[in-house]
Amino acid sequence: MCILKEDGRLLEFHFSDEAGCLHTFDYVRVRDVNEAIALLQAAPGEVRPLAGGTELVPALQTGRLPVRCVVDIKGIAPLQELAYRPDEGLYLGAVVTFDRLLAQPEVRRLYPLLVEAARQIASPAVRNRATVGGAVCVAAAYSDWLPALLCQDAVGLVMGAAERRIPLAEFVCGDGCTRLAADELLVGLWLPSPSGAAVGSYQKLRLGHGSRITLVGAAIQAHAHDGQLQDWRMALTAVGPKPFRVSAAEALLNQENPTAAVIAEAVLRAQAAAAPTDDFRAGADYRRAMVGVLVRRGIETVLARVRGAKP
Ligand SMILES: Cc1cc2nc3c(=O)[nH]c(=O)nc-3n(C[C@H](O)[C@H](O)[C@H](O)COP(=O)(O)OP(=O)(O)OC[C@H]3O[C@@H](n4cnc5c(N)ncnc54)[C@H](O)[C@@H]3O)c2cc1C
Repeated sequence: MCILKEDGRLLEFHFSDEAGCLHTFDYVRVRDVNEAIALLQAAPGEVRPLAGGTELVPALQTGRLPVRCVVDIKGIAPLQELAYRPDEGLYLGAVVTFDRLLAQPEVRRLYPLLVEAARQIASPAVRNRATVGGAVCVAAAYSDWLPALLCQDAVGLVMGAAERRIPLAEFVCGDGCTRLAADELLVGLWLPSPSGAAVGSYQKLRLGHGSRITLVGAAIQAHAHDGQLQDWRMALTAVGPKPFRVSAAEALLNQENPTAAVIAEAVLRAQAAAAPTDDFRAGADYRRAMVGVLVRRGIETVLARVRGAKP
């Protein structure tokens, strides 16, 4: 990679891929949301926001993503905001990195499921760059981040020609697909305050250490009120075109005490909701069986944590 010219803040980059082909694009660093949106609107689809760059930069290097201009949004102050207000909830600016999220005391105290999922994303080096908004925009079907957000009823704040608030369950429409238009920016995420003392568990199965692809993931959360667990939430990843909530299992856990029989039925409902496919990493039957193992383990972990035991 080399910088060819400097003209104010405009730099031109060249990447050459393994075949030696040069891919040229402009690089603009902006400090203001409107400036970023104006650039995106100037050539929708040919201008791309750059956050942590962990997905975008490799795509540019290989020429997989032909772009004319990359807009670096990391310097936009409202996108860096990370704030908790008890009456409103948690605001996560889109360019907050996973490292910053993990260091925030209120996140650690009030959103244990977010913390457990974020800790299992990639390596410390990647978490130091990758952003909470970038992971949402990538919208991977195997994302470890989306199930944890779905369990918080997170809402995406989007700015473009107009301002929109989109519940995360609608924001992601499939593997790598979002409702974001090419000239819109994800500005941040709103997470309501938990309805009680949240207890959570994120269970993840991957091929082995070093693999970034999750084979199956299960996020489980419940809220403790006077020693009782209420408001159970469950989301699965990597067993469908996008991560999703399992409302049938949630309804059961919210109606009945989580006895062994109820947990077994919740497991069956989660397996029924899963729609895994065969690929070279794992077969659909294996993935469905693992949904059962991880959901059971997740529920039992939540119950053990409420009792104060360390599972
Ligand atoms: C080595 C490695 C290991 C990984 N392991 C895991 C793992 O274990 N689990 C897991 O879930 N994920 C994993 N990931 C994926 C990782 O979570 C994402 O790559 C990362 O979160 C993307 O964020 P970013 O800030 O780097 O996005 P970028 O690469 O900057 O952007 C990604 C895409 O989103 C767009 N974009 C970014 N921000 C915005 C915005 N605010 N508004 C509009 N568009 C935007 C960009 O234009 C680009 O198209 C891994 C990635 C790597 C490189």
